Amino acid sequence: MTARVPAPAASTPPATAPAATTPEEAATAYGTPLYLYDLDVVAAAHADLVAALPEGAVIHYSLKANPHTEVAGTLAALGCRAEVSSTGELDAALAAGFHPADVTYSGPAKTAAEIATALRAGVTRFSVESVRDLEVLEELADLADPAESAESAGPGDPAGPGGVIECLLRINADRPVPGMGLAMAGVSTKFGVDFARVLATPEAFRDRGRVRITGLHLYMGTNLPTEDVLLGQFEAGLAMCGELAAALGRDFAELDLGGGFGTPYAGPGERPAYPGLRAGLEKLLDLHVPTWRTGGPAVSFESGRYLVGSCGTLVTTVVDVKESKGQRYALVDSGIHHLGGLAGLRRLPPLRPGLLRLSGGGDPAVGREAGPDAGPVTVAGPLCTPLDQWGSSSDLPPLRAGDLLAVPNTGAYGLTASLVGFLGYPAPVEVVTGSGRPTTATRAVLTRVPVERTPHHDHA
Ligand SMILES: *Cc1c(COP(=O)(O)O)cnc(C)c1O
Repeated sequence: MTARVPAPAASTPPATAPAATTPEEAATAYGTPLYLYDLDVVAAAHADLVAALPEGAVIHYSLKANPHTEVAGTLAALGCRAEVSSTGELDAALAAGFHPADVTYSGPAKTAAEIATALRAGVTRFSVESVRDLEVLEELADLADPAESAESAGPGDPAGPGGVIECLLRINADRPVPGMGLAMAGVSTKFGVDFARVLATPEAFRDRGRVRITGLHLYMGTNLPTEDVLLGQFEAGLAMCGELAAALGRDFAELDLGGGFGTPYAGPGERPAYPGLRAGLEKLLDLHVPTWRTGGPAVSFESGRYLVGSCGTLVTTVVDVKESKGQRYALVDSGIHHLGGLAGLRRLPPLRPGLLRLSGGGDPAVGREAGPDAGPVTVAGPLCTPLDQWGSSSDLPPLRAGDLLAVPNTGAYGLTASLVGFLGYPAPVEVVTGSGRPTTATRAVLTRVPVERTPHHDHA
């Protein structure tokens, strides 16, 4: 069975709804650093993506972008499926209200213990990245609750004892798609199974009891720059489907065409519109899978950043302003432990967030005349490493201790993509507003708990 995306809900809050909290109000109420997430923006982004995709398309929300219960819960309520790749993300998805039958468990290096946990929780759809994934699923299939899996298999599926475990075979294309930056496909990669390998060894991908390859997973990249590059990867994916169906001797029930829908990250800018995407995709589908509108396969997509990137703002306070050897520094109460941690480790180009000064905080009239305060300022955090800095800005007005700064477009790959454990600072407060609901504020904590020895790990 495939969950269809319902028409987007009206996003106008009822007249009695509290007005959405602003970053300044949240900073006054809860202190900084804080992340503010606006659920109305999540709903608007979802409506934009529904409008940009073919009629009836299924949308997966990738929880790694932001697993916050209310952010993810908004997308569950709007009819998305969840795409998770750890037991922690599975817990977050279930806590957010996703039904286990609407969860797709994906990712490389799934351990047998993780797969068992997912099956016991009622997950019956997996993206499989190797023959071993299929073998482990076959071995553990009976952990799936028969009632749950029979329901998820749907009336059209040849349900065996307890129903089908649906596997989407993740394919690595045989060549990269032009225009992709961080290529995750078409090159040598840890992800998926090479297209050529499936064609060469189709018997390895046969049905295994309840475990069936019911579809393909064709995720190729993230944050793609233009509609043409998006369409180029979808075309490359669809072009492989016919050959794979012939090689495996089956029709697919689902084609997960991936995503890569871009949006600004950690700086000013608007979520892009994709005015030609729906028509372009429908044309490609008509060409490659002419039965998609009537008999299937169901067509699905995945997004993290497009759905939630624009909903978030990181708010931080200037703690100190100083000068060293001709360079001015604004030291703030946030840093690479809250935003841009991967970049902070120089695993990626360093993140240079685009900061805005808010009107709250320090007295705007005091000491802001041009002079020693003018000119570029390096914004740095409190961590005891020189890597904890967000770069130099010439766009900021002169700063004083107490000023509030905001980094817009930080709803995706913010807190959980950072070095939250490093140096032991408390996590920022996460404030959620919008959707006509009362504002909530919570703080994530990292705690240490005792772990029992298990026979499986005891090699003595
Ligand atoms: C990370 C990831 C996504 C989400 O990527 P975004 O750029 O946030 O949309 C989707 N699918 C898979 C398989 C991923 O690993």
